[in-house]
Amino acid sequence: MHELAMVRSIYDVISEKIKEYGVKKVKEVKLIVGELTGVEDMTMKSCFEIYVQATPVEGASLIIERVPVKVRCRICGNEYETKIPFSECDVCGNKSFQIIAGKELYIESLDVE
Ligand SMILES: [Zn+2]
Repeated sequence: MHELAMVRSIYDVISEKIKEYGVKKVKEVKLIVGELTGVEDMTMKSCFEIYVQATPVEGASLIIERVPVKVRCRICGNEYETKIPFSECDVCGNKSFQIIAGKELYIESLDVE
C-alpha cells in the first residue's frame, strides 16, 4: 500500500528525532502533503495510527496540510495553480509546463513532551 510505505519513512524520521532529543512522547505530527502524492488523508491517518502502536508516537494526532499543485509554463514563464487533470496556461494557452509544487511529503513539525 502506497500510504503504508510513506508512513514508514515518516516514522523513520520521527524515530530519529526521538533518539536525538530524548523525546518521551509525541503529541502531534504535522505533515505537509502535496496533491500529487496521491495520499488520501483518511488512509494515511489510519495507517499511521496502526503503525505507531506501542511506540512513543502512539496516540499522537496527525495533522495533514495539503499543498496545491503549482506549475510554471515553459513557454511564457507564468506560474499557476492547477488540479488534475492539468489545465493549460491561462496567459498563453499552452500546456507545456514544469511542476514546481504538489509533490511534497515531509514533516513540518512535531509537538513533543
Ligand atoms: Zn504560458
